[in-house]
Amino acid sequence: MDLQAHVFDIKRDCSEDGPGIRTTVFFKGCPLSCVWCQNPEGKNDVSVVSYNESLCKPAQCDVACVSVCETHCLSFVDKLYVDFEQCVRCDKCFAVCPTHALEPVGYGISLDELLYRVMIDEAFFRSSGGGVTLSGGEATQQMEFSGKFLQALKQRSVHTALETSGFFNFRKFTDLMLPYLDLIYFDLKLMGEKASHQYTGQSNRLILENFEKLVQDNSINVIPRIPLIPGITATEKNLKAIAIFLKRHGIDKAVLLPYNPLWTDKLKYLGLKSSYERHNFMSAAELEHSIQYFKSFL
Ligand code: SF4
Ligand code: SF4
Repeated sequence: MDLQAHVFDIKRDCSEDGPGIRTTVFFKGCPLSCVWCQNPEGKNDVSVVSYNESLCKPAQCDVACVSVCETHCLSFVDKLYVDFEQCVRCDKCFAVCPTHALEPVGYGISLDELLYRVMIDEAFFRSSGGGVTLSGGEATQQMEFSGKFLQALKQRSVHTALETSGFFNFRKFTDLMLPYLDLIYFDLKLMGEKASHQYTGQSNRLILENFEKLVQDNSINVIPRIPLIPGITATEKNLKAIAIFLKRHGIDKAVLLPYNPLWTDKLKYLGLKSSYERHNFMSAAELEHSIQYFKSFL
């Protein structure tokens, strides 16, 4: 059987995931469990069901989804209830739901098909200096496929970028993926090991070691990215520690990503909960303070 990737989205015309016009492929599976995860649908490495209650119109369908669900994870009493844990992704309900209130998240795709899908925009890549970005989830979780995909893109002279949490096996990464990458957006989230455990579910040691090795290697453009999560990563203590760490490695630039609360809706659709749920954007003053404070240590 052909090598398959497990992805949950392929977005065309992205302008924020690297230079030029890009297509971003979102791979499923992530070794971290950040409490603010912007793409919770990518966390799990298996396909899951998503249910958007605001789209559900039982009068239009006679509640057809409940009748076709053989595992009884759908039930209807005044409204539809979904037992997300019991769903086996048989996909039967999606076919009968006229409003797309029930939707699949994640699917398998072969290398040839993925290449075909992204190369549709080859002319835009060439005219804009763009290319393809691997994101997720975490593309390094599917290292064998990601490496072959990147290699095939380079054979076609397409610019390649990776967005990564940095939590990967460095040796395997340098063998399989690094030779075919032009740019890495490397997330630096928390400098305190205890805080890293608490908010991402993993130690930051491997991440920081991998970052240092990549920067010392000097063969690839590595851009550090810092998600600004109020009260977690956007504290003065953490921002100062990241800035000092970067300065020590001769880096005086980083991308600071302002907090975006839109991910909290996704949690509802997936039947998930998080210990961190801030529903409002950062204020302009909050954002400016984070930026200026961070810059003052570089
Ligand atoms: S995908 Fe299958 S098991 Fe899951 S809710 Fe739909 S019908 Fe039920
Ligand atoms: S989820 Fe879809 S099929 Fe099920 S009751 Fe709502 S609209 Fe009907």
